[in-house]
Amino acid sequence: MRGKRSKQYRKLMEQFSMTFGFREPYQILVDAEMVKDANRFTMDLAPALERTVHGKVKPLITQCEIRKLYADKDQPGGNAAIELAKTFERRRCGHHPDQYPKPLETIECMQSVVDPKSTGENKHRYVVASQSLDVRRMLRGIRGVPLIYIKRSVMILEPMADESVQIREREEKRKFRAELKKTQGKRKRDDKEDKNEGEADGDGSDSDENKAAPASGSEKKPKKNRGAKGANPLAMKKKKAQPVPKKAAEKKPDAESDAPAKRKRRRKAKPENGATNNASEPSTAVPSNGGEES
Ligand SMILES: [Zn+2]
Repeated sequence: MRGKRSKQYRKLMEQFSMTFGFREPYQILVDAEMVKDANRFTMDLAPALERTVHGKVKPLITQCEIRKLYADKDQPGGNAAIELAKTFERRRCGHHPDQYPKPLETIECMQSVVDPKSTGENKHRYVVASQSLDVRRMLRGIRGVPLIYIKRSVMILEPMADESVQIREREEKRKFRAELKKTQGKRKRDDKEDKNEGEADGDGSDSDENKAAPASGSEKKPKKNRGAKGANPLAMKKKKAQPVPKKAAEKKPDAESDAPAKRKRRRKAKPENGATNNASEPSTAVPSNGGEES
């Protein structure tokens, strides 16, 4: 069980790193209850955090949270909690005693530190270790916040919150498409020799694509034309020559594929006009291009 969970956590932190840019040492905001409970369970907090996130950590505690520990210093374990908290870096939350005679509630202080502008972003890429379910629930609504708590002397890293999962999936799709384009580009180069062949038997499919792409492209034209130009030509050519890339390219969402198709055509058209391909691929590519651009 321990080993399995450990693997899960490693993977989870890799996902946070890839999608949200987390880097070691991970900055981990701990609240007062986390400090107390770690001591209560005789858990060495910083090393436990490092094992959980599989990396170096920099634990931080806000001014409000450490004030709470000082307020409880006469309770059992009070001093030990303060001593532990003092080993952590202080995070200036700006809630000064003169302005706030009582420290802010953990949920308010955390919210202001993690997402100072209420944009739903984890601006400083904090991991948060909090024993309060309400605090963690609030933080699940902010994108990309790894959440840690202790349950029965076991440290738990929460699964990624739904909203963060959606972002991660979008990001992965984007990367997959980018990777696909790269691979296609390479193949294109490799295939140059086969090019004539490929285009010859690609004639049929080529015309199909010309029809399809312009139709959808004309509606959506404005937004994506510029960005994608470079990459698209590659995708098109490959389709003709190679079955595998073709499938992949077709799987792309419509919006994406529109832009790429157009670009391909344009680029092709110029070289073809001037040079070799004019004869073999006479009318389809050139006219459609001219029409779109004008
Ligand atoms: Zn505060």
